Formats: sequence, C-alpha cells, structure tokens
Amino acid sequence: MKRIYYLFAALTITLLALSSTQAFADELVVYSARNEQLIKPLFDAYTKETGTEISFITDKAGPLLQRLKAEGKNSPADMLITVDAGNLWHAAREGVLQPVESQVLQTNIPAHLRDPGSQWFGLSLRARTIVYSTERIDPAQLTTYEALGSPQWQNRLLLRTSKKVYNQSLVAMLIAEHDETEAEEIVRSWVNNLATKPFSNDTKVMEGILAGQGDVGIVNTYYFGRLLKKNPELKLALFWPNQKSTGVHVNISGAGVTRYAKHPEAATKFLEWLSSEKAQNLFADANMEYPVNENVTTHPEVAAWGEFKASEQNLAIAGQLQNAAIRLMDRADYR
Ligand code: FE
Repeated sequence: MKRIYYLFAALTITLLALSSTQAFADELVVYSARNEQLIKPLFDAYTKETGTEISFITDKAGPLLQRLKAEGKNSPADMLITVDAGNLWHAAREGVLQPVESQVLQTNIPAHLRDPGSQWFGLSLRARTIVYSTERIDPAQLTTYEALGSPQWQNRLLLRTSKKVYNQSLVAMLIAEHDETEAEEIVRSWVNNLATKPFSNDTKVMEGILAGQGDVGIVNTYYFGRLLKKNPELKLALFWPNQKSTGVHVNISGAGVTRYAKHPEAATKFLEWLSSEKAQNLFADANMEYPVNENVTTHPEVAAWGEFKASEQNLAIAGQLQNAAIRLMDRADYR
C-alpha cells in the first residue's frame, strides 16, 4: 500500500514538473510575408539557442493583414513579419500591432528604419536603385533618379508597374524630398521616357534590358543579386544615384509584435534577437540584403556592388504618403 502511495506521489510530482515547464517554456506564433525559405533557418536557430518553439504561417502581406484584422483578439499571432515600410506602416495604422519599448531595438536599429511610434522595426535593408546595361551604357551618363526623366533617356527607360508597393514607397519618398507638384513632374518625365509599358516585376525589368528593350531601369538590389548568382557574366550593373543630394532610396523588411499577442515578452525577445549581431547576417544574407544593425558586416557578394550613401528619411513617410503617391502616379499615367 505504502509503495503504491509513493508511486502516486512520484507521478504527481513528475506531472506537476512537466506542466510547469510547459507553462514557462516560451512559444511563439509568427505570421510572415517573408518566404519560408528565408525565415525558417532563423526560427530553427532561435529554437536551438533558447528552446522557444516557433510556429508560423506564410502568405502575402495583404491577406496576412486582413487575417489579423478578422481574427482580432482571438488571433494566435504574436508577431508579423512583412516587407516594405509601406506595408508595416499600414499594419500599425490598422491597429494590428502594439508599441514595443526596447533599448536593445533602439540601439541596434537606426532611427529612420523603425517606426517613430515603436510599432515596427526594420530587420533588413534593400536599396531601390538604378540598373543599367553594361554593354550600351557608360555609368558616367547616370546621376540621379530625377535625371532618368531627361530627354537623353527617351524610349530607353524600363519600369515595374506602379501597383507594386515598392514603387509607391519610392514615389512617396520623392514627394517628401521635393513636393507633390515637382514629384509629379518627375514621374511624368519617367513615363514619357518609357521604352515599353511597365513590367510586372523587377526581374522582368532587368530581362528587358538584357533583351535590348531598354537601357536603364529601377530595381531592388536583391533581385539583381539573384540574377547575378544565376549568371555571373550578367551584362548589367547597379548605379547608386543621388550621391551628392538625397542618397539612394532604401526600404526594409521588418516586423512588429501583434496587438493581441499571447506572448508579448517572448515576441519582444525574439525581435531583439533578430536585430542582434548573431542573427542579422542570417536574416539579411538569405535574401542578399543589407543588415540594418551597423555593427554587422554586409555579405561580401552584396558588398561587392559598392558602397553608397543612403537616404536617411524616416521610412514612415512611405506609409504616410502612400495614397498621395498612388494618386500622383495615376495622374502621371504611370500604370
Ligand atoms: Fe521583393
């Protein structure tokens, strides 16, 4: 009888111990617009280091935002990872994120790459810059984004569609640098120089240049990197415009803690880890991007494209002026 009692006591203690470790082991649910192949290695590394289990779903930015809104308080998500400051700004505006006060994040991430209201934080940086044919163009002919509208580039410019948030953010930043009237003139001058109607993605812009449809275009750096990886003899190069003025337009992929997170502290810790030196290379290098943490070295393949001065306007502008940018591009017949 006594032996059975001891057995029960031991079992009870074991069960209690198990349930308490369950309660204390961190777990996280992440909604990500960044591809599984880019984020899964980070999740695995974090789980290995901390024991925190991470479950996740991936989808496009729009559907994820809708899902968070529809789920409201019942959402299982602790964190949203998405691309482009325009999308992050929208998520904050739609009330699906919450402010995170963290000295670590403020130290690791430059102020212009995070929300002034602390609801989203840039984790990797990409530049949206000029790409040109090395067969037909001398880079000495290139200077600024604005100058792509000059008569010299008549019927030689290739652009991606204005429907893509990347271009909406680019034009929003142009509005902030000039004003709406001037920005409209610039965009109109680009449209007048188009060699053919806008393409559906950045890769097609570069393929168009390779095929001789045009000589210059505007693309995100990592798409150039992907193409260069496939073909090291690529007859294209990146040009860093506006080096004597506003700097190259940059954007981010980033994240925020969701408003109804069930594990807000664990989510904050993970966000801090993502901005840390040990995680930044994993995050940026996977997509041939630049780390946001200035103590982290850029991957040599990416660094090989050259150093540049980047715009330091706060990226919240990309969200604040997004609607103005969309209307402006419509008026300028940029489709
Ligand atoms: Fe992209």
